[in-house]
Amino acid sequence: MNQYDPNKISENQIAVLGICSDHNSSYLRGPAKAPPLIRDSLYCGSANLTSELGVSINQNSRLVDLGDFAIEETRQAYLEIENLISPICQRKALPFVLGGDHSITYPVLKAIAAANGPVNILHFDAHLDLYHEFEGNPYSHACPFARIMESKLAKRLVQVGIRTLNEHQALQAKKFGVEVHQMKDFKAASIELDFDGPVYISIDIDALDPAYAPGVSHFEPGGLSVREIINLLHGLKGGQIVGADIVEYNPERDVNRMTAMVAAKLFKEVAGKMLV
Ligand code: MN
Ligand code: MN
Repeated sequence: MNQYDPNKISENQIAVLGICSDHNSSYLRGPAKAPPLIRDSLYCGSANLTSELGVSINQNSRLVDLGDFAIEETRQAYLEIENLISPICQRKALPFVLGGDHSITYPVLKAIAAANGPVNILHFDAHLDLYHEFEGNPYSHACPFARIMESKLAKRLVQVGIRTLNEHQALQAKKFGVEVHQMKDFKAASIELDFDGPVYISIDIDALDPAYAPGVSHFEPGGLSVREIINLLHGLKGGQIVGADIVEYNPERDVNRMTAMVAAKLFKEVAGKMLV
C-alpha cells in the first residue's frame, strides 16, 4: 500500500484521500476507479472552485490532498482502511474520503469515533445498507451501517433518499433507532438536521435519481435531485462536520462523465460547508 506523511496534516485541516476499493460490491465493480475521475472533474476548468456558500477551495491552506490509495482485496481490508484514516483523526484533522464502494464507511467511522466518540451521521442513499450480512459477507457495501450501529459508533443516524426498504432492513432500522426518511414521503422541511455534537456526512451517489447521476452500480429510480441534496447540506446545523465521504460513483456506468461532475460538485459544497 502507498503511504502518506502524517506530518503534512495539521489540526482542523480537511485531508482528502481516495480509497480505491470495490471488492465488497455485491453487483458490479467500478467504484475503485472513481477517485481520480472525481478530481479531474473538480479541477478540469469548466467551473470555478468557489462553493455556493462563497468559500473557495482553490489553494485553500485548510485543504490537503493526500492522494489515492489502493486497498488489498481481502476480508481484512477494513482494518487497512481504518489504519489509513486513524492518523488523520488523531491529528484532529477532518478526513474527506472519495470512494470506493460504501463498505469503506465502516472503517472510516471506526477511526472517526475513536477520536471523537460516537458522532451524528447524515447518510444520503437509495439503500439503508443495514443488512446484518449480504451473500455471506458482513463487510459488504450493503452492511456498513449495521456494523456502525452495532459498534455504537453513531449517536444518531439520519438516512435520506431511501427507496428500497424491505422487511429485514426495517427490523434492523427499528432495532438500531435509525431515522429513515423514505423518498415516498420526501419533504425537505420535515427532516430535522440540527445536530447536537460532531457530524459525519456520507453520500452514496445512488441517493440521486439516476437521471442526475447514471454512473452508479444500482439504478434506483425515484431519487433525489442534486439541488435537494445541496440544499439539505447547506441547511445542516449544529456540531462541527468531522468527516465526510462520497462513495459508489461507478465510472463504468457513467455518461459523458456527468456523474463525476455531480460528485465533484457535492465535494465542493460539502468542503465549502466544512470551511465556512
Ligand atoms: Mn450505500
Ligand atoms: Mn446505495
